[in-house]
Amino acid sequence: MELEKISFGLGDRFSHQGEAQLKAIMKANDNGLKISPVWNKSNREHTYVHSVPGDVRNEANAAVNALGFQGKYFVDADHINLSNVAGYVDCSDFFTLDVAAFIGKESTIDEVNAFLSSCEKYKGMLAVPGIAEPLLVSDDLLRMLATRFLAATQQASEIYAYLKNAKGARNFITEVSMDEVETPQTPIELLFVLKMLADKGVPVQTIAPKFTGRFNKGVDYRGDVDQFTKEFEEDLMVLDFAVKEFGLPAEIKLSVHSGSDKFSIYPIMGQLITKYDKGLHVKTAGTTWLEEVIGLAVAGGEGLALAKRIYSNSYNRSDELCAPYADVIDIENNQLPSVEEVNTWSSQKYANTLRHIPGHPDYNANFRQLIHVAYKVAAEMGETYTDLLEKYADIVGQCVEENIYDRHLKRLFNL
Ligand SMILES: [Zn+2]
Repeated sequence: MELEKISFGLGDRFSHQGEAQLKAIMKANDNGLKISPVWNKSNREHTYVHSVPGDVRNEANAAVNALGFQGKYFVDADHINLSNVAGYVDCSDFFTLDVAAFIGKESTIDEVNAFLSSCEKYKGMLAVPGIAEPLLVSDDLLRMLATRFLAATQQASEIYAYLKNAKGARNFITEVSMDEVETPQTPIELLFVLKMLADKGVPVQTIAPKFTGRFNKGVDYRGDVDQFTKEFEEDLMVLDFAVKEFGLPAEIKLSVHSGSDKFSIYPIMGQLITKYDKGLHVKTAGTTWLEEVIGLAVAGGEGLALAKRIYSNSYNRSDELCAPYADVIDIENNQLPSVEEVNTWSSQKYANTLRHIPGHPDYNANFRQLIHVAYKVAAEMGETYTDLLEKYADIVGQCVEENIYDRHLKRLFNL
């Protein structure tokens, strides 16, 4: 099973926006692209909104049937591990094996020695075509890499073996993710991670490293854009090398777990994959939930009232809601509007504050990040929330589609 060269991950917390999301993908495909949509949902997200893995499959199938989409599409069991993969076997055909928790865990001396001796031929100055400076591969470096990544790649191979047995080889897409950690992985680290995965028989098709910089939820990239550019470009060269040298699948590509809305680096990624004729997977999720709240605000009446209630509930519970996301949000509390103030806002003012239009005078990234983590509040409202999504489906759907197409796909692929 293979993705198209370009694939785009869509998250949908409340499973109501599948069609709107697919419309955006189809619009890009009408403009000459061939993007595979991938509906992704993590186990953590299912727990918060009380959905089950099969819901994502049903949503994807329903959207594809309703719109007559002819291309390949997938359902991604996002960030799964050995303890929860079983529940995703039947309904997913894309698996993101999250092994970040095993980075730095111990391996046996035999495993370390086997890795070190398999790397003899790469020691010294290693030239990777396309990377200007040769990489210095020392004993110390190799030992450090073994300490950091052998156990994690071993874990990937165990989850892969489970899936291969359950679904049959080549009947699913294999992604390996290590992005949910603090320290970025450099191109040379990526190279040896790929070697380890190849050695252990994991035919990885997309790989999600931790890139340099902060990928906060729902807001733009924060970090050194030049450094990101260099790293991303070198990673592409590393993938080429890994295909030729380690025999990994030729279609292997980078997966960017974007946290959504990394507008300032989207064009860079798009340009580099075009320059080198490479594939790319970009995962988004919460951006659609935020558009639901924007759509309700725009709808006015009960919709606006509910959007305001979501804010007041989140404001009062911000510590609790932010805690699980501490590493991926940066909210300056003194920049948050008071509940009293928000309660006086018009539809326009609310939507403009929340909608991600960089440079818009009303846009407030702090407000946006707080609403981003507040989907738990909406989940608690149950049908009160989803009934309004249905009542205002047209307005909300337009917001969702416009966001994915105009703000994401256009920037990424220069449409
Ligand atoms: Zn991730």
